Amino acid sequence: MNIEKYYEIKKQLPATTRLIAVSKTKPAEDIQLLYNEGQRLFGENKAQEMKAKHEVLPQDIQWHFIGHLQTNKIKYIAPFVTMIHSIDSESLLVEVNKLAEKNQRVIPCLLQFHIAEESTKFGFLLDECRAMLQGDVFPTLHNVKICGVMGMATFTEDMEQVRREFHQLHDIFQSLKTEFFAGNEEFKEISMGMTDDYPIAIEEGSTFIRVGSAIFGARNYQK
Ligand SMILES: *Cc1c(COP(=O)(O)O)cnc(C)c1O
Repeated sequence: MNIEKYYEIKKQLPATTRLIAVSKTKPAEDIQLLYNEGQRLFGENKAQEMKAKHEVLPQDIQWHFIGHLQTNKIKYIAPFVTMIHSIDSESLLVEVNKLAEKNQRVIPCLLQFHIAEESTKFGFLLDECRAMLQGDVFPTLHNVKICGVMGMATFTEDMEQVRREFHQLHDIFQSLKTEFFAGNEEFKEISMGMTDDYPIAIEEGSTFIRVGSAIFGARNYQK
């Protein structure tokens, strides 16, 4: 745990960018320590792990789900999750909507885009997403609220490439804003930037950076 680094990152944040402390694989005790410093936004990528931590930690923590979400796991987080960053298909959005309705909630969601070179990363392509937003199903989903976009850059030393990919995500955000969410003040988030690339993400207009290892230390297993 690196509290100094935490404050260093916080100091670099413009007023329009918020820090999500990515606590995946780390124990609840570590989260409590950062909570005691004032941090309230935490990110997890496994539904059961997030649920377990939610149950033992302070109730005013805002939990951001950032991992690939399987439809049979939505039920664990639907009652309390603050935002799901990883909507990458219409079928997933339909299922999130169902569970949100069951819990009498509207769940804020981000549309995840595939901006990296690696084919292993998840996310929509822009035209695929447009098709969903223009389709017949999307207007019937009253228990989800689309608040913006999310993406992960390629894992590379080439920071110019990373910058191009973040720039591309910003362009995608602008296109969707113009085409589908004009006048919708809730469509405003761009979730991008991690330990190795958050300064570039901030420069490219990120509103949520998701930083884990810089704050909590290296993870034993990477996921
Ligand atoms: C793990 C993870 C992060 C944080 O990664 P670090 O490099 O440890 O900062 C951010 N976003 C997603 C989607 C992740 O899975």
